[in-house]
Amino acid sequence: MIIEPLPLVLKNNHTLNINVFKDTCNVCVRYCLYDRKKKRIIKLSENRANGYGSSKITNHAEECALKDLINLDQKNKCDIYIWRYNKNGEIKSTHCCKSCTKLMYKYNLESRIFTFSEGKRVNAIVKNPIESLGNLIR
Ligand SMILES: [Zn+2]
Repeated sequence: MIIEPLPLVLKNNHTLNINVFKDTCNVCVRYCLYDRKKKRIIKLSENRANGYGSSKITNHAEECALKDLINLDQKNKCDIYIWRYNKNGEIKSTHCCKSCTKLMYKYNLESRIFTFSEGKRVNAIVKNPIESLGNLIR
């Protein structure tokens, strides 16, 4: 299977190994921190939606990305990108849920979080975000 490459301009990303994402389950939200100037992904990771009998409530990709951003990007050079893969390895857009939207506004990141739609980047904040299942349980 071929995993669709990210539609980002990448320079100097020898360590970027997109193949870490071997399974393309639809519920895993992937995220990366992308340095706008250096055109480099400084962190690439994923979040697995909980479920499948697990009682553990996992953090959303946005929350994980925010933590990484605070640790790795003190100079505010990075944007956050979130997305999923479908079973064909194609990139699917994903949008912030209600609570993540609030979180992004709280940290003034609402214009720095993106997803991909048809090979282009689009803002991941939507006007009417969905409630997240995890937060409903909480
Ligand atoms: Zn969320």
